[in-house]
Amino acid sequence: MQIFIDGEYFEKENAKVSVFDHGLLYGDGIFEGIRFYEGRVFKLKEHIQRLFISAKAILLDIGMTAEEMEEAVCNTIRKNKLSDGYVRLLVTRGVGSLGLSPFVCDKSTVVIIADSISLYPEEKYKEGLKLITCSTRRTAPAALSPSVKSLNYLNNVMAKVEAIFGDAEEGLMLNEQGFVAECTGDNIFVVKDGKIKTPPSSAGALPGITRDVIFDIADRLNIEINESQMTRYDIYAADECFLTGTAAEVIPAVSLDRRLIGDGKPGPVTEKFVESFRNLVGNEGAII
Ligand code: PMP
Repeated sequence: MQIFIDGEYFEKENAKVSVFDHGLLYGDGIFEGIRFYEGRVFKLKEHIQRLFISAKAILLDIGMTAEEMEEAVCNTIRKNKLSDGYVRLLVTRGVGSLGLSPFVCDKSTVVIIADSISLYPEEKYKEGLKLITCSTRRTAPAALSPSVKSLNYLNNVMAKVEAIFGDAEEGLMLNEQGFVAECTGDNIFVVKDGKIKTPPSSAGALPGITRDVIFDIADRLNIEINESQMTRYDIYAADECFLTGTAAEVIPAVSLDRRLIGDGKPGPVTEKFVESFRNLVGNEGAII
């Protein structure tokens, strides 16, 4: 495996960053997860754009242009001779001293890993996932905006532990007011009477790239879709529920807190979106 670090490629065992990197010391940095399918990178521009917005929000100079970053992602995939897989792109504050100040770090560290991925087994896309509500709340926007895809994932990691201990595949995260935000690594949607709803980013949802694709597909299929404040009631009372994320793609969720959503089986609207998404990914995107 060839891993990109600051413009050079290293074998996995030699791909290392300093213990003085503020990404490690403080989680000071940002990341993207990007999929590629059949030799095309899905929504590459959108991912790089979100990366640069996250960087701006935390005063991080990436030290590369968006075009250079897109090329570096494609080049890393090419070097690894992969046609289907997942890219993890990190930009950390870089090497500094032990103090918190980011201004002691001269330059950011850029890491690009291209690998294969399989998050959930195929049967989960047919049966659907079990969700539980986590007592760990989504980071308050006044503390750290959930719109920044930062390296501070401890909040989500602790929520994921709750999901695993609760024998569920994903954990539902509420915001401080008790409204639905998202899951630990995915956005959430419900279907009720043929209409789709998802929480707004102001409720603590990451502006997911896959989430945007759902809005595009809904437009194309002429299905009404809205951002709306949601409580757990909206999920318990929903006909269908599904999650979206780069790694998870579009996947049904069939129970929350052991209570069945709808009839406890993936519904027809969800199935339409799973299928439409799959048809889209191989036919779109920057050619590697
Ligand atoms: N929410 C969180 C907390 C995430 O980490 C992710 C992606 N890993 C998502 C939502 C989904 O975003 P995207 O569709 O851009 O991958």
